[in-house]
Amino acid sequence: YTGKPDISREKSAELYDKSKGYFPGGVNSPVRAFKSVHGTPLFIQKGDGCFVWDADGNKFIDFCASWGPLILGHNHAGVREKVVEVMQNGMSFGAPTALENQLAELILKNNKYIQKLRFTSSGTEAVMSAIRLARGYTKRDKIIKFEGCYHGHSDSLLVKAGSGLVTFGETSSAGIPKAFADETIVVPLNSDEAVKAAFEQFSDQIAAVIIEPVPANNGLLLQTKEFLEFLRAICTKNNTLLIFDEVISGFRVGFEGAAGFYQIKPDIITYGKIIGGGLPVGMYGSSVEIMEMISPDGPVYQAGTLSGNPVAMAAGIAQLTELSKSSFYKDLNNKAQEFTESIQRFATARNYKFKIFSIASIFWFAFTDQEAISSADQIESSSMEKFKVFHRELLNRGVYLGPSGYEVGFVSSAHSKIELEKAKRAIFESLDFVFRG
Ligand code: PMP
Repeated sequence: YTGKPDISREKSAELYDKSKGYFPGGVNSPVRAFKSVHGTPLFIQKGDGCFVWDADGNKFIDFCASWGPLILGHNHAGVREKVVEVMQNGMSFGAPTALENQLAELILKNNKYIQKLRFTSSGTEAVMSAIRLARGYTKRDKIIKFEGCYHGHSDSLLVKAGSGLVTFGETSSAGIPKAFADETIVVPLNSDEAVKAAFEQFSDQIAAVIIEPVPANNGLLLQTKEFLEFLRAICTKNNTLLIFDEVISGFRVGFEGAAGFYQIKPDIITYGKIIGGGLPVGMYGSSVEIMEMISPDGPVYQAGTLSGNPVAMAAGIAQLTELSKSSFYKDLNNKAQEFTESIQRFATARNYKFKIFSIASIFWFAFTDQEAISSADQIESSSMEKFKVFHRELLNRGVYLGPSGYEVGFVSSAHSKIELEKAKRAIFESLDFVFRG
């Protein structure tokens, strides 16, 4: 190895030695393991603005952003102060609070695609509940999902999924009863034909089509607006519900998420972690008519002791208030676009087999020369070897990315132009090392 000297990971390695005795793989969520990149996972000590510091005191410009929710950066003063203020009055009641109303009002007033919602504590719960709701409403069992899309870790959805599953090379989980998996029809992204064939084969049996309208868990597999419109039309024609899983794209590509970005109205939308600004929140929303199916109004049961927890609601109110300000997304997206375009210009000028795909403030580094990648099978798995080298070089130059070439990165409003310039320089040098050694 002749790259830049490795950062010290002594303290992280000590912590990892211990954590391996406590948790499978030493982690509480598989994507945190550095299994597909170099070295031991970095144990993070603190975050502030666009920076994180690890246990060894190394400082990084962070583009993982806790896997997306930190659109205002780490330790945002407005979010922290609101959380502390609300915590003074107790942390959980298992009874309704005014804070839930406030957050719901903030969301519903600024989103024309849903009329009623239910808060949950994670994206997984939100999506699992949305699927149950669709099944209860349509009285049908089957669902269509797309290869490479990740929708959390509930049973029906761990079939040919992205995120940690694709990173570790086993895209369907063990432990899912065959009878459950049989109800999930998996088709490739961006293929009208495959979706049509599934509807023909299982006519009148499909409760829902679920998609990440901005697929961001298997690289960034941007779909055409025409494909999403086709899904809308075929669902309407077959009395099937269209579910947009916006756990990544919601409040990220705009306040109204991908539905607003593409101006397509799904029947149910799920949102997640970004609402909580770093605290556990998810939600699903739909029309009044469909939401009336949910208990205690209707027969579809879904619950949660910590759903709508006041501390999490406080973080959500503070974060979404910032996001609802008029030029928030324009400023953030312009900054991100400038960042990604100059990286692409650099790579193109040097003829590197490298593309940065992006939408709004989400980006993905792809070691490819394809102009567009819109389905999971177009990704060459050999490109992950290049990512591994790239990731190590970036860490050694003070830039932190999620430890997998299948994961996207995020620009936050806390990334100043100066820090983005520094990050660019680190990215340029790292690309030079990957391609020229
Ligand atoms: N849906 C999508 C699109 C996601 O990206 C994720 C997680 N990143 C989930 C659902 C599950 O969310 P959580 O990890 O909060 O359960």
